[in-house]
Amino acid sequence: MPAVLSDIINKFKPKKNYPFCKFVSESLFFDYDNSVKLCPYNNMGLINENFDGIWFDTEKFIGERKNCSDIMASNELPSCCHDCINLKETGNIKLKQQLKYIFFSNWKFCYVNCSYCSRPKTDNFIQAKHYDILPLIKQLIDKKLINTKTKFIFECGDACVHPEFDKTVYFLLNYEAKNIIVNTPALRYCQSISDIISKNAGQVIITLDAGTKFTYNKIKGLDRFDEAVNNIKKYSSHQEPDEKRVILKFTMLEGINDNEKEILEWFILSRNLKIKKLFFEIENTWYSKIKNSVPKYVKDIIIFVKDMADFNNISLEFGDMTQAIYNSTDREKE
Ligand code: SF4
Ligand code: SF4
Repeated sequence: MPAVLSDIINKFKPKKNYPFCKFVSESLFFDYDNSVKLCPYNNMGLINENFDGIWFDTEKFIGERKNCSDIMASNELPSCCHDCINLKETGNIKLKQQLKYIFFSNWKFCYVNCSYCSRPKTDNFIQAKHYDILPLIKQLIDKKLINTKTKFIFECGDACVHPEFDKTVYFLLNYEAKNIIVNTPALRYCQSISDIISKNAGQVIITLDAGTKFTYNKIKGLDRFDEAVNNIKKYSSHQEPDEKRVILKFTMLEGINDNEKEILEWFILSRNLKIKKLFFEIENTWYSKIKNSVPKYVKDIIIFVKDMADFNNISLEFGDMTQAIYNSTDREKE
């Protein structure tokens, strides 16, 4: 066949799409049980079961990532992935050398008691040692597996309890990392977090889950709403008026904060605290229960959240599951 003709045929041939998961292709996860893996939900891409922070086997990681990526592209998708919200499609399966996301969740003690927490809080677990993540970060930089654009995400729990937290943040700031993301209940104020904000080097995400003290106490199992609000105020004072570096998060729970009154209070509080970005999500296990038949009142609340954000000129991000519900509403179809 003449070259010109085959070029034309190739151009119009439908492109093949491959299953894609950002955790397999672009991330590395240091979990709270000291395992290191690709997938945060199961042992897909398990690299180390009991990492101590001293030496990370980068060759094993690169091999495991390639292996998992090949499995996903070969139509032998593992059963755990079939229904997963993180599964997308891509036309290009070429792996990039450098990671887009690195998640840290390697601290055991969380002093909050969120009613929806899935992490174990047994004595053995709490007493297990934290490990220092700085040598690991230096190793990944040396191996060119991360760069200044990589998102360094300190996961839920309170990263600030990690004894090496400040040291790690200041190392990343000196390295000129652009995306340091810290999840915290904001019950301990950290100057290093304020420095991330004032140096435009990332974001802090604070999960209040409520707009009132009463509901906060019920969800968090702590009577420390005012402390959290005061610390949010301090963090917010370090951002420029239109910046979105301090983000308030709301996880909607069945029968507890799933009502417009509570959400309205959360909006009023956010406005008073000069917050410019909100994150809203539905709790995982509740979503799994209702995803095939989402009650109308849940859809109405999600539309209400969107309208409130637009009305208050606050940027809003939905979690993937919430976005899936919003996309299924008549509003989105209009
Ligand atoms: S279960 Fe989900 S997150 Fe884990 S590898 Fe599969 S698609 Fe990715
Ligand atoms: S802050 Fe996170 S880790 Fe701590 S109790 Fe709440 S959900 Fe669990």
